[in-house]
Amino acid sequence: MFRAQLINDPFDDPGIYVEFQHKKEAILFDLGYLHHFSTRKLLKIGHIFVSHTHMDHFIGFDHLLRVCLGRDQHIFLFGPPGFIKNVESKIGAYTWNLVENYSNNFVIEVTEVHENRKRINRYRCQRAFEPEVAAEAEDFNGTLVDRNDFTVKGVFLDHKIPSLAYSIEEKKHINIKKNVLDEMGLPVGAWLGELKDKILRGESDDTPVNVWWKNQNKQIPVKTLPLGKLKEKIIRITPGNKISYITDAVYNEDNARKIIGLAKASDMIFIEAPFLEKDAETALRKYHLTAKQAGDLARRAGAKNMTIFHFSPKYRGQKDLLLEEAMKAFNQD
Ligand SMILES: [Zn+2]
Repeated sequence: MFRAQLINDPFDDPGIYVEFQHKKEAILFDLGYLHHFSTRKLLKIGHIFVSHTHMDHFIGFDHLLRVCLGRDQHIFLFGPPGFIKNVESKIGAYTWNLVENYSNNFVIEVTEVHENRKRINRYRCQRAFEPEVAAEAEDFNGTLVDRNDFTVKGVFLDHKIPSLAYSIEEKKHINIKKNVLDEMGLPVGAWLGELKDKILRGESDDTPVNVWWKNQNKQIPVKTLPLGKLKEKIIRITPGNKISYITDAVYNEDNARKIIGLAKASDMIFIEAPFLEKDAETALRKYHLTAKQAGDLARRAGAKNMTIFHFSPKYRGQKDLLLEEAMKAFNQD
């Protein structure tokens, strides 16, 4: 299960932080200002998907880089054409003559996405972030990450420059029947995450699962049960969660078709709504959506819920107008 939140107030830098429940892992869509995030939260981030590198979507890079220095972190960064140069320019703005002495291993892996292919470079702190080619250029068919627990897809939207919209989808959602857990006298704890991973990996029913917890003496008693029995008793499997992140796009037929396709049946669509429909001309000129267009697109995608953001500062104090307009379009029959 994912928990997603905007990283800032909707009038400030856009972006969402998506946290995995029961896992020390998070994903960021867009890298706007994030100084207010705790170090603990920032260090959970493993993947970052940047729509495009206008300043409000990428200024958080330096802060994250600083927080990760001196730690064992591996970050996968994704972005549009030109992204490798953008990242290298940021890294190249600093002097790195002492980092080769660091004992930890901080690595940034950058995927620059093009219409039909992707380039991947790697930057290791211990090598003063010298660029290394991580892989031969690969084909890009819409999928950016495909793990056994989730996938991330991207499409290019027209924002006068290419802007990537993304969706993240959990493969399936494994629910724990807490009441049965209690009845069986089993504790809640990190072992449940390990159990879920085993199920997602498709391990066989006779795989032993260690049930462990920390008691008052900090000891970790272990009980071992077969995977099949736990699956049968305490697990309920439901379809996975889907979240979409759509920002910085003009309203035109091509963009609309791509947004609806990407965000199809999302549990939550985060979609930009910088302008009111009465200012549709300004929206068009600036290559952004209106609140009505955002609500229409979310409805046509069949999204269950919608969150709008990236409000133009001209509407400060009039946030409700944007919300009402978008919601009206979203809930229309
Ligand atoms: Zn923007």
